[in-house]
Amino acid sequence: MPVDATLGYDDSNIFARILRGEIPNKTVYQDDWALAFHDINPQAPIHILVIPKGAYVSWDDFSERASDAEIAGFVRAVGKVARDLDLVSPGYRLLANTGINSHQEVPHLHVHLFGGKALGPMLAR
Ligand code: 5GP
Repeated sequence: MPVDATLGYDDSNIFARILRGEIPNKTVYQDDWALAFHDINPQAPIHILVIPKGAYVSWDDFSERASDAEIAGFVRAVGKVARDLDLVSPGYRLLANTGINSHQEVPHLHVHLFGGKALGPMLAR
């Protein structure tokens, strides 16, 4: 079910639980600012989720409330994962769903990183 991104942060969401170590994940990278792990239901040969370690619902929430250090750390982490997975040359796609119209299901900011094949048009037509 898509979530309403205006409802505020819900500490019981699945990614908050992953960050607390309550649920396992297949980590590909982490540092002080971000955790990157494999999506449980991959939509491409490579499908990684990158999440900030702080409690933010969406990109706009993060950009409004996060510190400069958190923002820099998170953005750098997304790029590092792409480089580490050798995705720069073949190309990759980043996607951050927010709210009902984009069908965001988990109300903790996450950037999907897709790669490993030609990804086709940006949106379903
Ligand atoms: P959204 O639709 O919110 O942008 O994407 C949420 C993503 O989280 C989906 O691609 C879904 O497969 C993934 N996901 C949901 N629950 C889990 C989980 O427990 N572990 C992992 N690794 N991914 C999850």
